[in-house]
Order: sequence, then structure tokens, then C-alpha cells
Amino acid sequence: MPENALLTTHRPRRVYLAEPNGYCAGVYMAVKALVWMVQIFDAPVYCYHEIVHNRFVVECFERAGVVFVDSIDEVPEGAPVMLSAHGSAPEVLEDGEQRAGIVIDAVCPLVAKVHHEVKRRAAKGFDIIFVGHEGHDEAVGTMARAPSNITLVEPETGLAGFKPRDPGKVALFAQTTLGMHEWEAIRAEASGRYENLETSRKSDLCYATTNRQDAVLEMSAECDLILVVGSDNSSNTNALVRTARMRGAAAYRIDSADAIRSEWLEAADVVGLTAGASAPDHLVREVLDRLDPAEGWSLFRVTEEDEYFPLPRGLRSLLGALVSTVRIGFAAPSNGTGPLDYDRRVTATDALAMLESFPSGEPALPAAGLLGVHMVGESVADPGLVEDGHLEE
Ligand code: SF4
Repeated sequence: MPENALLTTHRPRRVYLAEPNGYCAGVYMAVKALVWMVQIFDAPVYCYHEIVHNRFVVECFERAGVVFVDSIDEVPEGAPVMLSAHGSAPEVLEDGEQRAGIVIDAVCPLVAKVHHEVKRRAAKGFDIIFVGHEGHDEAVGTMARAPSNITLVEPETGLAGFKPRDPGKVALFAQTTLGMHEWEAIRAEASGRYENLETSRKSDLCYATTNRQDAVLEMSAECDLILVVGSDNSSNTNALVRTARMRGAAAYRIDSADAIRSEWLEAADVVGLTAGASAPDHLVREVLDRLDPAEGWSLFRVTEEDEYFPLPRGLRSLLGALVSTVRIGFAAPSNGTGPLDYDRRVTATDALAMLESFPSGEPALPAAGLLGVHMVGESVADPGLVEDGHLEE
């Protein structure tokens, strides 16, 4: 039995690990982007809102000298600032550009797509229903795209409070991380009320949200208990818990293995495990270790993911300029490799591991190294999960 296995007489017989689970392409992109900011600039680097909604990830950046703020006013004049993956109001970007030395917007492209659709419909005079959670960073950023035309509707309350000026010109959009069942209920209600309703062809729920929910839905039918790794302010994590419960499974969110309660396992022969899109892989591995299933674990795979989002455009320009400068300084001819060429191969786990390897405020590597001169071709080893029930080291 592993040292950290649960001290309980109720050891599950089997664990299914949902696939896909954990980090999505938007989180990969945002985490790597902020790691680059920490490496390029002297500390502190500022970040407007938590870069992603995971306590572990945020604390990791704080140890490396990142200061998270809820207002651009808290950023000292001239300091570098990154805007979170959830998307920010246009005023935040404008204020940041006025105040900060450099502003990099790490908004997920799938959130940016919803921003674009909202703006487009508002410009055509539509009244817009936005299904989301009041106060969530993504909802706040999206609502700010068309404040005079948009009404926030909570998934639990439905359309009761929505009164369009013209029922023939209504559009419906959603936070990317809702429960699919919640989105479908609101869409059915809105379509029944507004004949010419304009909305996304499928939904605004992103691929990561829907894939993780599909896996949990199927897995719930086979499990006595579902555990979801993720932080309490992570919308897609909470949606996974609601999805499993909607299917009739006992389901709990946990920040880490330490949050598992032994009483949950009393009647749990088979446990399903998944993680929200901002939960680091190592936390999932620790939960597997802690559960220590008698007959081992296996993947519960519903689909493969290979989405990749490049670093934010502003950061790519900055890195490109730095690469050129370093190459000129080293009189090194360009061979077409550099941080932007190997970015696809670097995971958020790799990037966070790099962050942990250097003390607060100190760049990890000399500039020549971080710009790809000695890192090219060195894929950082990532101890990952493999399918046959053990951890690959
Ligand atoms: S959960 Fe979806 S919308 Fe959010 S960052 Fe990930 S891919 Fe983007």
C-alpha cells in the first residue's frame, strides 16, 4: 500500500480515470504565457484576476513573484501586466494600456469568440440573453462587451427576469463552462419563446467543457462515487460535479487528495475520478495514489483531444523580438527554432515545473537559454499517466 493511501477500511475495488480530464488548451496557453512573463520581466509581474481558477496554480505563480490584482489601479505605472484566461472588459484593457508598461491579454480564444458574437449582435440591435454565473470573471468580461444590450440569466433561474424590447430580435449566448444540461434547458425555453432566436449552431460551451462532461456522464453510470479535482471558484469543475449528480451519482469536488473523506468511500466499490480544466495533473495522480484501488485503475476514455492554442499575439511579438536580439548578440544564425517553434511541445505542467525551479523574482535561465538557444529539442520530461494502471515515471 502506498505510504499516503487513505487510512480507511473502505478501499475502492476499482478506479476509473476519465479521459479527457484536467488541463485544456486555453489553460495550457495562459499558464505558459504567464511563465514567459515571469522569465522575461523582473518581478513583480502583475496579473489581472487569477490567471486560471486553480488555487495550486495561483500559489505557484505567487511564489515566483506574480501579484494577482482585481483592479488595474493596483498595478504600478510602467509594470508589466497579464490579463487572465477568462477574458476582461474592454475598459480593463484600455486602462492597462494607459498605465502598464506592457499588457498581454491571455484570454482563451474560445471566450474571445463569444465576445465577438455578443458584440456583433449588439451592433445589430439585438437584446442578448447571456447564460452564466453572476460575478464569475468570464461572465463579467463578456457582459462588458455590450452592457446596454445584454441580460445575465443564471442557469438555475431561467428566463423569468428577461424582457426584450423586440421579441423578434433576441440572441442567446453562454459562459463556456456551463453544464450542458443547463444550457439545453435554457435554449429550449428561449427557442419556445422567441421564434427568431439567434444563437450558436451547437452551443458556446467549449470543447473541453463538453468532453469532460461527456466522460463524467458515461462514467457516472458505472461508478458509486465521482470525485472531481479542482478549485471552488472553477466554473467547469463545479459543472462536472452537477453533471454527475444530475445522472444520480454521489459526487464531490476536492482541491487535492487531502480533501477526500473516508466516509465517502464506505459504499464505494467503483470510484470515478476526473478534474476540471485548470487542475494540475500531479493533483490527479496524488488522488489515484491515495485511493489505492485494490484492483488498480483504468482510463475511461470517451474521446481524444489535441487542441492547441498559440501564445497570445502580443507575447509572440515580444518573444520574436527578443529571439532576434539574442541571436544578433550571439552572432548565431537563425535555424528556425526558438520558443515559438517548440511551444506546442511544452505542457503547462512543464512550465509550472520550470517556475518552481527558480527562486522568487529570479529569472529561471539566462536570456539566451530561455529564448531557445539551449532548450531547443530538449523536451521537458513529464511523468505522465499511462493506461495500464500505473504511473509512468
Ligand atoms: S475551459 Fe474552455 S473556454 Fe475555458 S480556457 Fe479551457 S478551452 Fe478555453
